[in-house]
Amino acid sequence: MTGLRAHAAAGGPTHFRVANTENTMDLQLLIAQWSGALPPGFVRPATRTEGSDRCVQPRCSRKVAIKKDGTPARSCQRCLDRRAASCRRRRKALTAEGGCRRCAYRKRLAGDFLCERCREDRDIERAQKRQDAIDAAAIDDFAARPDRAHEPSNLDCGISPWNARAPREASAAYWSPLPDPVPKAERGWEASLHDSGWRYRRH
Ligand SMILES: [Zn+2]
Ligand SMILES: [Zn+2]
Repeated sequence: MTGLRAHAAAGGPTHFRVANTENTMDLQLLIAQWSGALPPGFVRPATRTEGSDRCVQPRCSRKVAIKKDGTPARSCQRCLDRRAASCRRRRKALTAEGGCRRCAYRKRLAGDFLCERCREDRDIERAQKRQDAIDAAAIDDFAARPDRAHEPSNLDCGISPWNARAPREASAAYWSPLPDPVPKAERGWEASLHDSGWRYRRH
């Protein structure tokens, strides 16, 4: 029990009571609830101080574990292991009952190992990752470019339709090619002696 209930159950002189179906609401409690402030004389439940190096788990006073990055964890290593094992056991049991592989709480879709929501989340994450990769590539590309004050354009280089070279013109050689070195009449080796090639002609 914590908060108001704990205080009320602790006994001793209380000038407010917890509202339930049996008793009526006290005026102080009403004021407290309306104002959002604690009633006068309220003693906060004891909390472990944040800076202490003792495990925050109840009934455990071992020293906290040190995380890999050097900062102290909030629990001791034994409690961390115990809780991790508990999570693993629970997750395994839920997954064996047809729970989603990722969240373990919702049912899997038929023919899938994820639930609908996890599937959506995964698709979103994948799209995000892809976009991040694209952005990173664009940034790398930009960083790899030599930093010039001005990127010369075609116009800067003097390439323009107004000073372009004249287009090529067809010469007389195109229309009158060189004559054949062997006259058509003397090219008897082109024709077969046995076949006139009638099979390959239509007319
Ligand atoms: Zn502990
Ligand atoms: Zn899920």
